[in-house]
Parts: sequence; structure tokens; C-alpha cells
Amino acid sequence: MIKWIPRKPKVEMRVYPKYGFVNVRHQVCFCPRCWHALNAGPGYQPNYCSECGQRLTFDGMEWKADELLDSTERRGSYEPDQNRVV
Ligand SMILES: [Zn+2]
Repeated sequence: MIKWIPRKPKVEMRVYPKYGFVNVRHQVCFCPRCWHALNAGPGYQPNYCSECGQRLTFDGMEWKADELLDSTERRGSYEPDQNRVV
């Protein structure tokens, strides 16, 4: 595999818990060569993989904002808002 030809990173949507009670869907970019998770985002796109040196291009990359997901597991065992004193 030729390192100096830029390749597009692989993109996956990963869901992880945040603040302990909500889930966040977050776009994660991976090196197409070694699958190192790149710390890339709309404000930062590395030109090379810090792990294996694979050259990267983010041309045409669509950046998706983090998305908060309802934590559905808790529904039914938890009464939201109704009796809450504000
Ligand atoms: Zn790499």
C-alpha cells in the first residue's frame, strides 16, 4: 500500500454515553490504513495519520454534528418532569 497517495479516512458513527445519562452519536474518522482513530472534526483535519503516516484527504467529507439520543432504557422506570419543582 502506498502511503503518500492521500486516502479518505473511514467514517463511523459511534454512540457513547455522556454525562452518565445521555447517549451521544459522534462521527469518528479512522485511518484507512491502520484504523487508528483520528481526532478529526470540522475544525481539525490532520494531513497524515499520526500512527502510520498515511496521507489523508478530507475532500468532500461531510461533518455531522454530535447528536444527543434519548436514553430509552430508562423509560418506564423513571417518571420525568411531572412532579419536579422548578
Ligand atoms: Zn494510520
